[in-house]
Amino acid sequence: MKSDIFQRASFPCPVCTGNAKIRESEALSHTTRRLKYLCLDVECGHTWVAHLTYVSTLSPSALGPVHPMGPRKRPPPEPLTNPLIRPLTETRKPAA
Ligand SMILES: [Zn+2]
Repeated sequence: MKSDIFQRASFPCPVCTGNAKIRESEALSHTTRRLKYLCLDVECGHTWVAHLTYVSTLSPSALGPVHPMGPRKRPPPEPLTNPLIRPLTETRKPAA
C-alpha cells in the first residue's frame, strides 16, 4: 500500500498542467525515490517518471545528520527497570 505522503506529492502534468496521480514509487536509495505519474485528464493520459530527492536539511534531526550510506538505526528500547512490571516471557510459579 502506498503511503499518503506520496499520493500528495503534487506534480502537475508537464503536457496539460492537469492533476496527476502517482502510480508507482520505487526507492533508488534512502534519499531518492523514482515516481511514475499518470495525468488524470482523460483527454491527455500522459504518464511520466520523476525523481523525489533529499536536497538539504532545514532543521537538524535530534538523531544526527543525514548519512550518505544509509539511514540511522534507532537504538533498541531500554529494558524495563520497574520491578513491578515483569516481561511476559517470565514463568509464573504454580499456586500452592
Ligand atoms: Zn496531462
